[in-house]
Amino acid sequence: MANLQGGCACGATRYRMASAPLIVHCCHCLRCQRETGSAFVLNALIETDRLEMLAGAPKPVVVPTDSGKSHRIFRCEACGVAIASEYSGVEKLRFVRVGTLDEPHALRPDVHIYTRSKVPWVALPAGVPAFEEYYDSKTLWPAESLARRAAIFS
Ligand SMILES: [Zn+2]
Ligand SMILES: [Zn+2]
Repeated sequence: MANLQGGCACGATRYRMASAPLIVHCCHCLRCQRETGSAFVLNALIETDRLEMLAGAPKPVVVPTDSGKSHRIFRCEACGVAIASEYSGVEKLRFVRVGTLDEPHALRPDVHIYTRSKVPWVALPAGVPAFEEYYDSKTLWPAESLARRAAIFS
């Protein structure tokens, strides 16, 4: 498996993903564009107990959402870089910011979501599923990932 260690800009926060992610999202929604200051965000979904903190304890910051469900961004306490998100109060899952990996090219998007608000100069790659909004994980996630998710919610 690829080296899935990462951290913030200042080094106070360090983590390790103990497994490959369940799936990797590339989200083109306007919230993600604003929260990152970029054109999209790359999130690797993983069980919270497989996101091992090696240093630091990122601080959750509540941000507004369009759905009204909760979104907390975990930021390095020292430099404020966003490490991961928690959506809808689902404490058992983390959405890890792929760009914080030491080898950020190790993970590629498995799916593009909220493409209705994609910036026009980003061209989506052929062969990767893309959705105007969200998608049905039951039809898209690998069986192993569905089993892992079922295991944490059983
Ligand atoms: Zn930091
Ligand atoms: Zn988004």
